[in-house]
Amino acid sequence: MAHDGIQIAEAILEGAALRDKVEGDGKYRHRVSAVSRCLRDMVMHARGVPWSNPPQSEHGRQIVFDQGHDIEDRVVKYMQNGGFQVTCQQLQVTARTPGRSIPVPGHIDGIVIMPEGMPRAGQWLLMDIKSIGGFGYRMVYDKNRSKPKAEHMAQLSVYAHGIVTDPKYPDVNGYRLRDLKFGEATFGGCIVVYCCKERPKKGYGPKAVELPFMTTTIFDVDESDSYVSLDLYDEVERHLEAGTVPGIPSPDDPMVWGRETKGVYTAIRCNPRWCARYDVCQGKVDMEFNENKEG
Ligand code: SF4
Repeated sequence: MAHDGIQIAEAILEGAALRDKVEGDGKYRHRVSAVSRCLRDMVMHARGVPWSNPPQSEHGRQIVFDQGHDIEDRVVKYMQNGGFQVTCQQLQVTARTPGRSIPVPGHIDGIVIMPEGMPRAGQWLLMDIKSIGGFGYRMVYDKNRSKPKAEHMAQLSVYAHGIVTDPKYPDVNGYRLRDLKFGEATFGGCIVVYCCKERPKKGYGPKAVELPFMTTTIFDVDESDSYVSLDLYDEVERHLEAGTVPGIPSPDDPMVWGRETKGVYTAIRCNPRWCARYDVCQGKVDMEFNENKEG
């Protein structure tokens, strides 16, 4: 039988998962942060299909989410201590889809004005801060080149070409984000700051190499990248209009985190651990629609 400590931990985890329990995933809304979400899951959500596999409290989904927010705030402070000027935190930006001009809002992490002596000095960069586990960190860390994750590039390219729609910033409201100027500083691209959540190492055992706790990647974006990403929301609308649900994506599709091992792809996301509509998607339970669900 499990010891008393396990029982206490379970109660705490239940407390952490309370929001998920009470609110579920709420009413569907287009939002920029969903740009790499599975289309089938989005359409089911938009059509009011309830979760068949609600997140398990033991997996700590909300804890991971909160860690991301906490790290973001701390990294901004570290940057300011390090001489970087960070502004426009949580600025609201709204992109429009290429086909139907549907608004897709979101909030940026911030803008960083690059100081003298740094790459792209005198320009400003659109910034995203990501806390990341050891495995993901090893995928993006490369001391010889900038290597962002594709989903992070997609998100930032959408933000860069969106319009500022934030009443808290009346001076810049209505402008395309990448057209803004801060003093003499013009847009110089995007930066993702990756902060590892655990001791980052490459390799195992005595031969393991310690890696720095943080890495950053700088890259350029253009509007066509943004359009390709935003087409996802037009697709959602097309399905809503037609009353259809798209099929299960191919296992090599990035939207289901297709991962290749020895020539065979596995859809990592298609698992009840990561997808709250796994059973309904896979036909293990009936798909019930509730199109007028309020949230
Ligand atoms: S199981 Fe996979 S394909 Fe189905 S909704 Fe979830 S992520 Fe999408």
